[in-house]
Parts: sequence; structure tokens; C-alpha cells
Amino acid sequence: MLSATLLRKTAHSQTLRYLSTKESVDVLIVGGGVVGLGMAAALQRTLPHLQVRVLEAAAPPSSPPLSAVPHPRSYALSPASLQFLQLTDSPQNSLGYYQRMQVWEARQPAFLNFGIEDLSSSTEECLGAVAEDSFLVQTLTSRLAPDTIHYETTVTYWQLPSQTSQGLVTLNTGTRLQYQLLVAADGANSPIRRKLGIASHVHEYGEMALTCTVEIDSSMQDCAFQRFVGDDGILALLPTRSNRHAIVVWSTRPEQVEYWKKVPTAQLMEHWNQLFQQGPQRLDPLFPRTDIPVLSNLQYGTEKVWEMIQYGSTLASVTHRGAQQSFLLPPQLLQTASPLLSFPLQLRQVTRYTAPRVALVGDAAHSVHPMAGQGLNLGLQDVQCLLQNVQKADDAGMDLATFLENGYEQSRQQQVLATVQGIHALHQLFRSQSTALQHLKTLGMNVVQTVPPVRSLLVQAACGGVGL
Ligand SMILES: Cc1cc2nc3c(=O)[nH]c(=O)nc-3n(C[C@H](O)[C@H](O)[C@H](O)COP(=O)(O)OP(=O)(O)OC[C@H]3O[C@@H](n4cnc5c(N)ncnc54)[C@H](O)[C@@H]3O)c2cc1C
Repeated sequence: MLSATLLRKTAHSQTLRYLSTKESVDVLIVGGGVVGLGMAAALQRTLPHLQVRVLEAAAPPSSPPLSAVPHPRSYALSPASLQFLQLTDSPQNSLGYYQRMQVWEARQPAFLNFGIEDLSSSTEECLGAVAEDSFLVQTLTSRLAPDTIHYETTVTYWQLPSQTSQGLVTLNTGTRLQYQLLVAADGANSPIRRKLGIASHVHEYGEMALTCTVEIDSSMQDCAFQRFVGDDGILALLPTRSNRHAIVVWSTRPEQVEYWKKVPTAQLMEHWNQLFQQGPQRLDPLFPRTDIPVLSNLQYGTEKVWEMIQYGSTLASVTHRGAQQSFLLPPQLLQTASPLLSFPLQLRQVTRYTAPRVALVGDAAHSVHPMAGQGLNLGLQDVQCLLQNVQKADDAGMDLATFLENGYEQSRQQQVLATVQGIHALHQLFRSQSTALQHLKTLGMNVVQTVPPVRSLLVQAACGGVGL
């Protein structure tokens, strides 16, 4: 016999089902981070006749897009990403623009210093800009048609679609929503990816990122700095919209992060200042010392020749570039201006970017090491590629999901793999402590620095972002 409570519950759920509305959209975007919102804004701009809905699990933002001190949750965006997000005309006081980028190593007499003159297109006005997450989210949101984003809304039931039938989801609000294309932009832990059972290739770096906003004593000289500090990891200093503040991103071992989060922040500033204030250094000898006279002489001679090549190339890189591009000393860090935030780091790429009527974009599809500042830039390239394929289908009057498999999937498999592998190889190379590799890197860095076409190629690969 059914109890009274059970009877009441059954009646209630039947009423809910009866009352629940059924709606239909063309594109359903799950996840209202920068990538999901970037997709929604681009779709409404280029294909305004399409019905677009964004579901965001979190509540609407409650703080203003820009507060007095820049927030450390910020991203270095390439000129191509800035253009795609239509941010190129943003006022100086909303983004941290930079014209130069300087990279150097703990134990090497070499450094790389790139500038906008290395970009082939003369229209670029910066090498990149640092944008706060809150600014991007709220700027993109303000461009969307009313009622596009539904906050605190998630998918509770999903009937996995076939290639032919439309997709259908049930939301926590009770609404049933039909769609032609579902875009999974729900971040690194993507519930959509997990529901689809899509596997990922994962590499654990065994590193965490520690980041915060800091007060600085002088100008950033329009430059973004990055120093590879051997066992101490990788330290980046990024400009912000305020000339009194910069953002530090330190990728290092988890024990270091735990330790430095417990000690007074003044000590952390001292440690970071020491690491940032050291310029390029002399290398260890290439060969271990020997007591055998003949070998010792041979070793000495070889090292001298090698040193001549090394220092010759260093000198060439310095004199060739002229005074304007010589080594820049970063500003001194005075004190922290925000709480310390930390994130685990891993490399991840999905084995498939698509399923019937579903496309994965942004961190739902891949995560990369922040050393290259490419994570969001890569996500925005996904968005642009997907947009092109949706537009192609729409222009031909076809189903919007027509070119997922042969267009989006193929293109992202190739392009993201190349970028992910390139970033991973650079990480392995720069984290290596082998003396022989250090010598080769010095030579390589000096060649890159001295030969303008090689430097130009590297800068364009780093700054290409969308449309590479
Ligand atoms: C320390 C650090 C520094 C970085 N620096 C840079 C940089 O300089 N340049 C750069 O390009 N990249 C950088 N990145 C990478 C960048 O942070 C990410 O690539 C980017 O934030 C990914 O954006 P996304 O929109 O894909 O994901 P997220 O920003 O994670 O957004 C996902 C959204 O989905 C929502 N969501 C989750 N689950 C659900 C659900 N079930 N239903 C509805 N909504 C849901 C979430 O609430 C969230 O709003 C850095 C990363 C780290 C860790």
C-alpha cells in the first residue's frame, strides 16, 4: 500500500512534469566562463537569427568588473584574441598592455627580448594585454541579448542525442530544452565531457601555480617578464592596468607553494625579488674536471672555443639589438596586494573534440602549462574554428552540427596537438638542469635573439592566437 507521503510526492512530480515547459534553441552553451561567453557573443554578432542560450552553474557576478586593485585571476591575451573579443579599442585603464617580452634563465648567459617590431603586421599596437577575468566576463555579458544567460542553471538529465535527432536536456529548473548543437564550455572538470565518457591524455607536471597581485616600485617598462629559475620553477611578472601593480605567476613544486603560503608574505617578496633581480649568468663548465694532463688541455681548449661561440653570440645579440633592447631589469616588488591563490597544473588534451551534436571548447577540451600564457588563447581559437563551421552549415541551410566531425574535430585535433606538444617540449627543455642542454639552449637563444627572421617567427607563433 502506498503511504500518504509517497502519494503526495508522486502527485507533486506529475504536476511538475505537467507544468515543466519545453523550449527550443539552436545553440546551447553549457558554461559561462570567458570561452562560453566568447562563443555566445560571437554567434549573436555573426549569426543574429540563431537562438543562443548559455547555462551557468554559478550565480551572477556580484562585484564590479574592475576594482581598485587588479585581480590576480587574469590572462595574457594575444593581439589575435584581443581582436576576436573586440577589445582592441579598450581604454588603457582597463587592460595591462605590453610592447615587449623578456625571457631569461637561471644559469645562462643569454636572454630573449621581443618587441612589436618583431611582428610582421604593422597594424599591431601591442604584443599582448593582461585582462582580468571579471572584466572579460562582464564585458562579454553586457553584449549579449537579454535572457541569453541563465544563472544557477545546470543540466540534470541528458538524453544523449543521435546524429539525426535533436538533442534534449532537462534543467534543474524543470525546463526541458531542445537544441541543434550543444557547446561544452564547462571548464577543466567538464561534467559534459565526463557524461560522454570522452577520455583525455594527461601529463601531471608535479607543479602548482602560486599567483597574486603585487605592488611595484617603478614602471614595468611596457614589458612582460619570465624567468626560468631551475629548481625554483618558472616565475612570471605581468603588467596590469595599474602602473603601481603587477601580477606574479610562479609555477613551482607543491611543497614550495605550501611552505610560502604559511610564512609572512614579506619573506616571499624578498625571495621573488632575489630571483627577478638576477640577470643572465655564467654557465657551469661543459665537461667534468679531469686530472689527466692531455685530456685536461684538450678539455680546456674545447671549452674556450665553445665559450667564444657562446659569448660571441651573446655579444652579437646585445650589440645587434642596440641599447633600446638590452636586458631590462624588472621593478622591485614591494608587497602583496591580494590574497595568494594556487592552482594545480596539468597538461590535458581530449581524445575527441566532438560527439553527436556536441563540441568541446576551452578548458573542457585541453589544459596547458601557464608558462606560455596560451590556455585561454587556445580556447578562443576553438571558438573561432567552431564558429566558422557553424556558419558554413548555416549559410548552406544545413543542420548546424553538419561540420562537427569533418570540420571542427579534424582541425582542432591537428592545431591543438601541435600547440600542446610545442608548449610541453619548451617546458621540458627549460626545466632541464643538464649542463650540456644549458649550453645548447644558450646558443639557441642567442641565435633566435640575433637573427631577426627567426625571432620574428617565434614571436608570431607566440602571439598568433586566434587565426594562427
Ligand atoms: C595560474 C594560471 C594562469 C593562467 N594564465 C593564462 C594566461 O596568461 N593566458 C591564457 O590564455 N590562459 C591562462 N590560463 C588558462 C586559463 O585560465 C584557462 O584556459 C581559461 O580560464 C579557460 O576558460 P574556460 O571558459 O574554458 O573555463 P572556466 O573559466 O573554467 O569556465 C567554465 C565555466 O563553466 C561553469 N560550469 C562548470 N560546470 C558547469 C555545469 N555543470 N553547468 C553550467 N556551468 C558550469 C563554471 O561555473 C565556469 O563559469 C592560466 C591558468 C592558470 C591556472
